[in-house]
Amino acid sequence: MKIAIFGDIHANLEGLEAVLQDAADRDCTHFVCIGDIVGYNANPRECLEVVRRLECPVVKGNHDEEASLDTDLVGLNPLAERAMQWTRDNLTSEDKTYLSELRMVRQVRDFTIVHATLDSPSSWGYVTNKFDAMASFGYQYTPLCFFGHTHSPKFYVKTTTVTVERGSSIEIENGKKYFINVGSAGQPRDGDWRVAYAIYDLGANRVTIRRLEYDLAKTQKKIIDAGLPTMLAERLELGK
Ligand code: ZN
Repeated sequence: MKIAIFGDIHANLEGLEAVLQDAADRDCTHFVCIGDIVGYNANPRECLEVVRRLECPVVKGNHDEEASLDTDLVGLNPLAERAMQWTRDNLTSEDKTYLSELRMVRQVRDFTIVHATLDSPSSWGYVTNKFDAMASFGYQYTPLCFFGHTHSPKFYVKTTTVTVERGSSIEIENGKKYFINVGSAGQPRDGDWRVAYAIYDLGANRVTIRRLEYDLAKTQKKIIDAGLPTMLAERLELGK
């Protein structure tokens, strides 16, 4: 069985479609979403509809939470704030209810999913090094946990210590724990413009990060046409 784990879609429909097409081509039969369906880009409603149609486990991202509220926007950078106001204006109350009801942490089969961190999921901290990962491992009760939020795919592995493993694929071994960032299906930030997601192959005990080209020009045109900040279109081709 192969499971596709994706997130940080951020309303990039072309990115999401590329991910789901690739997952289907590679015989993934199950789907899991680690949150941030909306925010930044121009297709929040369409992306929500695609994810909801999959009827898959989904956890809440910080942008999902912000989009579902109508309180003052705090804690976002100015670019994210403008995009968030636009996103709120372009979602229905039903969309917002769906987003507000998403859970912060879920267990799926033998793994856990969370958007940001396991030690404090609703604080939206960033795991960018092994020390951050160590804090999450303290609350990880399954061999694997998939997360996102930084938009940079990465494998953290815990034995007696925590290491960061390089490469695009990792073998899952007994007695170890894995905290795996699946990257972003809609706004990569690791210098590579291609969207990312993970395939967990249960038969082969392997997790692979896939990188995919998508119709970037179409996504960028939608951002400009929607009146969203031009920088949001520019950053997509830079992968940051
Ligand atoms: Zn995000």
